[in-house]
Amino acid sequence: MKKVLIRPGKERSLVKRHPWVFESSVARGGGDSGETVRVESADGAFLCWAAFSPQSQIRLRAWSFDEAERIDAAFFARRIAQAIAMRTRLAIASDAWRLVHGEADGLPGLIVDRYGDTLVAQFGSAGAERWKAQIADALLAATGLTRLYERSDAQAREWEGLPVQTGWLRGEGDTAITIREHDWQLTLDVAEGHKTGYYLDQRDSRRRFADAVRQFGVKSVLNCFSYTGGFSVAALAGGASQVVSVDSSGPALARAQAHVALNGFDAGRHEAWDADVNATLRRCLHEGRRFDAIVLDPPKFAPTVAHAERAARAYKDINRLAFMLLNDGGLLYTFSCSGGIAPDLFHKIVAGAGLDAGVDGYIVERLSAAADHPQTVCFPEGDYLKGLGVLKR
Ligand code: SAH
Repeated sequence: MKKVLIRPGKERSLVKRHPWVFESSVARGGGDSGETVRVESADGAFLCWAAFSPQSQIRLRAWSFDEAERIDAAFFARRIAQAIAMRTRLAIASDAWRLVHGEADGLPGLIVDRYGDTLVAQFGSAGAERWKAQIADALLAATGLTRLYERSDAQAREWEGLPVQTGWLRGEGDTAITIREHDWQLTLDVAEGHKTGYYLDQRDSRRRFADAVRQFGVKSVLNCFSYTGGFSVAALAGGASQVVSVDSSGPALARAQAHVALNGFDAGRHEAWDADVNATLRRCLHEGRRFDAIVLDPPKFAPTVAHAERAARAYKDINRLAFMLLNDGGLLYTFSCSGGIAPDLFHKIVAGAGLDAGVDGYIVERLSAAADHPQTVCFPEGDYLKGLGVLKR
């Protein structure tokens, strides 16, 4: 077994069971792409078994902190079984959920979503790539399913020096799928949709939004960064009479329109605007258009802390405009899925936006990713998705 030695003092995060080691913390040693290595401190103490990523800044990702544990097919079967067992204890209001959430499930780099009877996996690290066949077999054995689609096309693959790979890994068939979320039906295509097809992490927030729309008597809604209209369907279900979905993806908006009809809502209650959100917010302001509720669910502006400052300005700007476009007593559901923006910083950004817009509001909701996208105590980076529900005063 190959060994990697950590620089003196740089073993601290591993001792705290944080699973990443950056390139600058490695003193010497290495392995092939994805190879399992024994990681030791400068004085030769065992730290973990890890996957080696020769090209990534994250040079090592820990598989196990237990010296007696072997990293083999049975290891992956155990971790997958544990991840599935956790989900079976949650009351998930959907037939689609995240089965494996990377680091939080002790499987760095591996994402697996389940859409009905179809599994979709992202192998986002050299280690996950190396064990792909064993992981695929373990997933089918643990779920009793037969279809697994690979969506290894996320940016992280590039950082790992891995090529894009997509297609059926096990089984085959139609990539178009209809799922049930709460009382709603939603469609997606696992081959073409964003991420693995749908933003499952916002499931709980969509429910909360539907409830808030009803509770606060919201009539008009502007759903910014709507993707396929999950929050728009929620708004219609909550009783909104005029809902606008805004996104820069034409195919996503076509699906949003289709979702209105699929869920039995009158098409006259929904509009889809294929446009840039920033330009749209400014245009609405200029035209004097106002809304009872606005959703802001932008893409990741800050993938890492290094991008936080520029991202903060971008978040603040859209939130400021949204505050100005809200009717008094209106609701802002605002989110950030940037790992580089901590929840307290996000709160400060929204506060700054309110200050600039000259409005204050009550925080009526604090939102985060649904529990099938778990956070763990030892991996604070896992807290990527945060949101606030603000009632404008
Ligand atoms: N709220 C959605 C998920 C949003 S993901 C849900 O619940 O499913 C972010 C979306 O923002 C993507 O659909 C992407 O196409 C869109 N997007 C990114 N930049 C944009 C921009 N500048 N203007 C409009 N839409 C944008």
